[in-house]
Amino acid sequence: MVLSEEKIAKIQSQLAGLSEAEKEKKLQEIISGMSEDEVNEMNEGKCIFCLISQGNIQATKVFENSDFMAVLDINPANPGHVILFPKKHFKVLGQMDDYSIKELFLIANKIGVGIFEGLNAEGTNIFVANGAVAGQNAPHVLVHIIPRYKDDKISFEWVPKELKDPEKLAKKIISKIPEDKKEKTIKRVEEVIDDVDYDDQYPGSGFF
Ligand SMILES: [Zn+2]
Repeated sequence: MVLSEEKIAKIQSQLAGLSEAEKEKKLQEIISGMSEDEVNEMNEGKCIFCLISQGNIQATKVFENSDFMAVLDINPANPGHVILFPKKHFKVLGQMDDYSIKELFLIANKIGVGIFEGLNAEGTNIFVANGAVAGQNAPHVLVHIIPRYKDDKISFEWVPKELKDPEKLAKKIISKIPEDKKEKTIKRVEEVIDDVDYDDQYPGSGFF
């Protein structure tokens, strides 16, 4: 273990009592002073969402059980924007086992109901960014549940591209859909994700 217990305790004490914004700034400062090994370990074992789930970083909880936690995003797309995540450190959905995936989306859906009912939302967006190119900026699986209202100016629009040879495309995907994933990780998912350099791993920074 590169990042010693003492070092972690020191980081925690440096963050204690700070406001969310100050905490974010301080953490960025601490990370910039770390060695590459330490940063890697921070990414894998001590990422922000792991720290939140361990109670080492304060967040406003909306749900918690033994395996999952959901908190309010501190820089929400709309007020009430919730981030749901597994307590175990998975980088992307493709690494999670089937059972956990079911649980994750069951809970996401229930939180969505809470948002509809409790915040009078007129719609929700529930989504996951897998990988940095998809806009993910924290190396931990996060499900975003965003309350939506008419004219709230949040945009998920894109310019449609041409779809050529749909049958061939579909075949390529179908041939690689795993039947039963369980604990097995998918090779390419691992390779692609391990190449990713997450340069910002904070919740609520306006990314996903
Ligand atoms: Zn984590």
